[in-house]
Amino acid sequence: MEKERCVAVVLAGGRGKRMGKTLAKQYLLIKGKPVLYYSLDIFEKSDIVDEVILVVGKGQIPYCRQEIVEKYQFRKIRAVVEGGAERYHSVWEALHILERENMKKGYIFIHDGARPFIDNGILSRVYSEVCRSRACVAGMPVKDTIKLADEQGYIHMTPRRSQVWQIQTPQVFSADLIIPAYREVMEKETELLEQGIQITDDAMVVENVCKCPVKLVEGSYENIKITTPEDLEIAEIFIGKKVEKIAKR
Ligand code: C5P
Repeated sequence: MEKERCVAVVLAGGRGKRMGKTLAKQYLLIKGKPVLYYSLDIFEKSDIVDEVILVVGKGQIPYCRQEIVEKYQFRKIRAVVEGGAERYHSVWEALHILERENMKKGYIFIHDGARPFIDNGILSRVYSEVCRSRACVAGMPVKDTIKLADEQGYIHMTPRRSQVWQIQTPQVFSADLIIPAYREVMEKETELLEQGIQITDDAMVVENVCKCPVKLVEGSYENIKITTPEDLEIAEIFIGKKVEKIAKR
């Protein structure tokens, strides 16, 4: 079977307010390289992903071209675009390019640039699944008990732990599913906001507009999102382990 076209949308347009640093979290260095480098490197070397669209923050295009694309010679990055106020606005900036190209076949891998520990195993699991079910997201079953709280901060309910997953990226969809779904969400954004619906991941877009089932695929417990300073310390350890493994080969 011929391989379908696969485009990765890598998101680096956030400001990283929770990190408490002026430089956004995706540009902070782990073992001398920016957080963003690590996932781009996996896509660059992957046999699955053909092209990458990198979404960056306002005014950061020249910096990213020079300090990321050119410095590390990423050849698969075909466009660097400016993101928007919320994560879903940033995703739409990239999808809009593919919509204009009339991309109807193939798959789109949406990935947080702040998750440097995506690996080839995750990529091949999500790719196999999306070919079967058109929509899937990486995630892991939670280790802790999760409580839903009411507005006053009291426990409202306790979902059964075996059914609760922590969602990661990549979130992967067929192009003919995710592009129209995002378009529809962007058109009814005001309505969704009025209903108190905040779109925090891509699966939600599909859940809200097309009711297509989205399959959960095993990611990894290392595939963390670098959000707060302690995540950076953990990331240093994970990268250290990787470097050691490569040195032993
Ligand atoms: O804010 P959050 O941690 O959910 O961000 C997840 C990813 O989305 C990060 O890689 C961040 O850079 C990106 N993002 C973006 N545009 C925004 C907000 C977040 O590209 N407006």
